[in-house]
Formats: sequence, C-alpha cells, structure tokens
Amino acid sequence: MNDLILEGGLVLTPDGPVTADVFVRDGIVAGLGESLGSDEATVLDCRGAWVGPGFVDVHTHLREPGEEWKEDIGSGSEAAAAGGYTAVLAMPNTDPPIDAGHLARYVADRGSEVGLVTVIPAGCVTAGRAGERLSHLDELWMAGVRVFTDDGDSVADAGLLRRAMDYLAQLGGIVAQHAIDAGLARGGHMHEGDVSSRLGMAAIPAEAESTVVARDLALVRLTGCRYHIQHVSASQTVALIAAAKAEGLPVTAEVTPHHLAFDHRVVESTDPVFKMMPPLRSPEDREALVVALRDGVIDMVATDHAPHADHEKDVPFEHAPHGVIGLEWAGAVVNTQVGLEPVAFYERLSIAPAALLGASGQGRWIEPGAPATMTVFDPEADALDHARSRSRNTPHLGRGLRGRARHTLLQGTLTHSATIVPHPS
Ligand SMILES: [Zn+2]
Repeated sequence: MNDLILEGGLVLTPDGPVTADVFVRDGIVAGLGESLGSDEATVLDCRGAWVGPGFVDVHTHLREPGEEWKEDIGSGSEAAAAGGYTAVLAMPNTDPPIDAGHLARYVADRGSEVGLVTVIPAGCVTAGRAGERLSHLDELWMAGVRVFTDDGDSVADAGLLRRAMDYLAQLGGIVAQHAIDAGLARGGHMHEGDVSSRLGMAAIPAEAESTVVARDLALVRLTGCRYHIQHVSASQTVALIAAAKAEGLPVTAEVTPHHLAFDHRVVESTDPVFKMMPPLRSPEDREALVVALRDGVIDMVATDHAPHADHEKDVPFEHAPHGVIGLEWAGAVVNTQVGLEPVAFYERLSIAPAALLGASGQGRWIEPGAPATMTVFDPEADALDHARSRSRNTPHLGRGLRGRARHTLLQGTLTHSATIVPHPS
C-alpha cells in the first residue's frame, strides 16, 4: 500500500485542531507534523481544508436486495464515499426485509466486496416489518446487528416494542424508531399547517411524531433499552429529547440534511422532490432543529438517503414516494445551514454516529496509531454539482451550498478524491 501525505490541512486531533501534515502508512496514521518527507508517498493537498475522521451515516437506504433500479450497494457506496462517508448503516426495509441473520450477513459481505465504505446492516424489529411478531433478534445479533428498526414504519404495538427493548437491553442493543403514528399520518402528504391549508392538501401534524416518542420514552424508562430517534422533524419532539436527556435516559437523536435545509413553504411548488417522511415542517421547527444540532440535544446528522428512480418520483406530488438522496451533500448542508466549527462538525457527522454504532475503526480523532479512515472536507469549495447515486432525487443542487469532501480514505485507501497532486520527485 502506498504511503500518503496529507499536506497542510487543519487536522482534528484529540487535543483539538492543529495545522499539520499527516503521514499514512499501512492504513494507519503513522505521524503528524510538518515536512514529513517521503519520496514514495502520494501527496494529497489539504491546504484550506479540515482533516478529520470519516463521516458515518446511521440512516442509509441502499435498496439492495430487491430495488436495485433505485440504488445498490455498489452505487450507494460510491455516493457515500463522494460525500465523505466511510461507514453507513444500511436500513433493513429492503425486499426481502433484513429480519434474519443470513440476510444481514449478505448486506455486510456485499459492502466488503465493494470496499468503498463499511456497510453495517441494521435489522428489523418485527418479522417482515409487519409489526406482528418479533424478528429473529438473537440471530441478527449473532450476525453483528446492533441497531434494530422497522424504518419506513413505526413499531406501533407497545407490547412488541417493550419485549424487543427488554431483550435488547440485556444485550446492549439499540432500538431506532421511525416515530410516526400511522393513524395520525394516514392519507397525509405534507406538514399540517398554513401551507397545507392553502394547498388544500391532506397533511400530517407534528403530533404524529411527538406522541410516538413520548410513549417510547416511557418504555425506555421501563426497560432501560438504548433508544435512537430517527429523522426528528418537530420542535415539540426536540423538547421531549432534551427532557429525556436531562433525566439521564439512554436516548440519542438524528436530524436529516433536508430538515435542516428546508421548511414546508417549499412544498408550495408541489415539486415532489420536497416530499419526504416525516414531512418538512414549519420555519420554527426547522430553526429548533438547527439550534438543537448546534447544542448537541440532537446528537448527529443522518442522511435518510432514499433513492427513487425518475419515473417513480416525477409524478404528481400526492402520488410520489417519500424521500430524497443526501449522502453527497450532508456535509455541505451542515456547513452552510448550521455553520458548525470543525470540532462540532466532525462530532455530529462522525464521532457521535460512530459511537452509536460501536463501529470499530470509525470516528477516531486523528493521531498516530489511529486508523487512516478520514475525510478531508473543504468548507469553502462549491458543493458537489451532480449525484453519484443511481437516482437523482435531490433537492440540494443549484442552491449555492458550500463545502465538499476533497478526499475520503478508508483504512488508508483513497475511496474518493476531487484532486490528486503528484509528489514532486
Ligand atoms: Zn424513516
């Protein structure tokens, strides 16, 4: 494996940011300093950029197995590397759903074969995501699954959820909830508010989310199970999370780039690229999400990267499927809309999500001996101007976003590079 020198970037070390070169040998950070010469090494220009741990996404839809016309583990891994990601948690709402050990192993093995990003499978809470009986939690656990979710649907049955939590609490597993009450959301296409009233469109109140979270928090109190709230959209949910954390409950939460970037006023265009679940909510909700991410009440950014083919998404708003892609622009949205300084930026995009997953070799500040699993992020560059995903359903193009991954490294291997400068010999 070639030696690498990452030259002149602002390096995020355990002691804070320092301007330095980073020397990489055999997949490991071998040294940190200035003028680390080596005639053999490939030099990566990192001037003007941040050098930190690789981004980790805890909410990616790779669509394999079963919906490869939208995305597969190969194309999704390319999109992830281009966005600066070195690990993704693959959601289990595939066809078939990932509700047994051999299916989880398939997803992880395909990810290893592609080799661009560490693909970590999530498993279903209920068999077939049908919400009627538990999936093979023990078998999934043996296959390495640590995060369990029926994402795409809430686990509605409190008794089933309680049993899953009891079991997973003993193992140290995590329930991740797509917290949307199916009854309150039924028939709705967007946030319930003044815009939906003007459009006359059936809508989903913020309470569809907060009532599920409130109930689940009572079950967390009962069982002690680790609980992660997916794609938080509403300020009233943020308040519940803050109170739960103050109480010391083992709770974490994520927010998506699109909920940070947009509110329901963009739905006035009835462009289906703004249709997602949960829906884009009010400007006050969006502001509360931005503040919560800054303050750490919301721990991390997760993309909810949800590819759909053009023929599926380019239909009238009411008929379009939910979701947008986001792996390629999450860093740019956080940089532009939230404006985090580098330490907090990497905490929300790498350190906290890697800690949630317990992903070995991910989410480590840069120091000698750490794995060279890193993202060099240029906060001033224009965002990526095209999708690397197989699908193109993104709302983030043409909006003047700033910031992109200049280089992405997985254990010392360059998985994405915007520019490679050859070492002068
Ligand atoms: Zn979801």
